[in-house]
Amino acid sequence: MLQPPHSSLQVAAVPVQRAAARERDQDAPWHTEAVCRRDEAGLFFAPSKEPTAARLSREEAAKRVCARCPVMVECREHALLQPEPYGVWGGLTAAERRVVLARRRRRDMELKKTAGQSRIAAAG
Ligand code: SF4
Repeated sequence: MLQPPHSSLQVAAVPVQRAAARERDQDAPWHTEAVCRRDEAGLFFAPSKEPTAARLSREEAAKRVCARCPVMVECREHALLQPEPYGVWGGLTAAERRVVLARRRRRDMELKKTAGQSRIAAAG
């Protein structure tokens, strides 16, 4: 069975439903192309009580690994869709993924609003 790219670093507190979702996703072929399997595993997830400067440095190093990964887009979408709450996935930190998700929600709401206005105008 395939393992997620940095499964050895999954924090123990990941909720059961997210672990189950990850299990379902393990057959996705992109996992086999992940370069982070061969890199230092500790780059992708924060140890507890990590100082800010150390976190920023570690995340930048993880992003450099992601930047040369052939499945960065697939990994990023996986992390956004699950969503993965921790770690660097697809070159984005958890905080950056929250921003992307908020933008997507806002865009979807605007599209629905525009579609609704178009239906009203067409009916009127
Ligand atoms: S994009 Fe980054 S986290 Fe995702 S598989 Fe590639 S190296 Fe690993």
